[in-house]
Amino acid sequence: MGDRERNKKRLLELLQAAGTGNAHCADCGAADPDWASYKLGIFICLHCSGVHRNFPDISKVKSFMTHNGNLRVKAKFEAKVPAFYYVPQANDCLVLKEQWIRAKYERQEFMADGKVVPPPGNREGILWKRGKDNAQFLRRRFVLLAKEGLLKYYTKEESKGPKAVINIKDLNATFQTEKIGHPHGLQITYRRERHIRNLFVYHESGKEIVDWFNALRAARLQYLKMAYPELPESELVPFLTRNYLKQGFMEKTGPKQREPFKKRWFALDPQERRLLYYKNPLDAFEQGQVFIGSKEQGYEVSEDLPKGIRGNRWKAGITIVTPERRFILTCATEKEQREWLESLRDVLCRPLTPLHVPSEKQGLGVVFLTEAAGAESGCSSR
Ligand code: ZN
Repeated sequence: MGDRERNKKRLLELLQAAGTGNAHCADCGAADPDWASYKLGIFICLHCSGVHRNFPDISKVKSFMTHNGNLRVKAKFEAKVPAFYYVPQANDCLVLKEQWIRAKYERQEFMADGKVVPPPGNREGILWKRGKDNAQFLRRRFVLLAKEGLLKYYTKEESKGPKAVINIKDLNATFQTEKIGHPHGLQITYRRERHIRNLFVYHESGKEIVDWFNALRAARLQYLKMAYPELPESELVPFLTRNYLKQGFMEKTGPKQREPFKKRWFALDPQERRLLYYKNPLDAFEQGQVFIGSKEQGYEVSEDLPKGIRGNRWKAGITIVTPERRFILTCATEKEQREWLESLRDVLCRPLTPLHVPSEKQGLGVVFLTEAAGAESGCSSR
């Protein structure tokens, strides 16, 4: 460790001890930030410093400053962040961090005495949407009716009627920039019959797409507050949108377990306790779903393959045991296998019925699906 490193480490330890919160990036929470904005007096991580660097009017990044602690500055710029607003974390994509940083320091939307930003409410505009049957992105008009709890999109003039009417109650939105291949790529999912429909959209403007994302979150919050008036806002916020716990390719064999292994794209949704698989990552519908119940119900995940079963090209095995059948999967590497095992076990260990949701009510969607599907153990009920 060089002198510089040592000094930095000591400084961080001191600051941490002093409780100024500087051991984490002020914008995304990443540990051990290496950079500081001396204009704002905050510590930030390398990635966020890159964003700050683009906006010299609001920030100047350099070596550490100590006269202003992260917590003090955060208190100033984050005085009134709306409950629905998504605050990015260290592993989130760049566009979320960039827009959060700009909203916070450049537009100063969250300062106590700052200008009042009206809540998103209704929203309409053009998004580029990936075609269901070809990979082309086409301009589509999207309309969000927050009070009615509906998102519609149109392929032609509005008089011809919407192509889809999506209930906010069943909707999720998650940034999937790598999978979609666009830095502003957003995946919108909703339930259709027993399947989950995927829409892949983007907008050229980072602000537009993040505004859409937060508008959908705001509409979800509005709906959930209505459906669950007895629950405090803070307990509803985790249900606004959710990210996959893990995604990637694995190979799977069929129910007889003699079928040839085929490469599929898997996505694990921890709230719905569902491992979805697709022929291709950007398919409109999944090919199948595996419900991941709890240990107590007899669900199990183990590494390795049952005796006598061999993978095709990939050897690192995973076996998921459900009350009905075994799912035999293989991963390309042992690292992948480890990560899948960890993620699947994480879901297995979660209590089956997330807290205090009255069971006669429909609507948190995600929560109910879990209960209903738990009994049927397989497909979404509807
Ligand atoms: Zn950061």
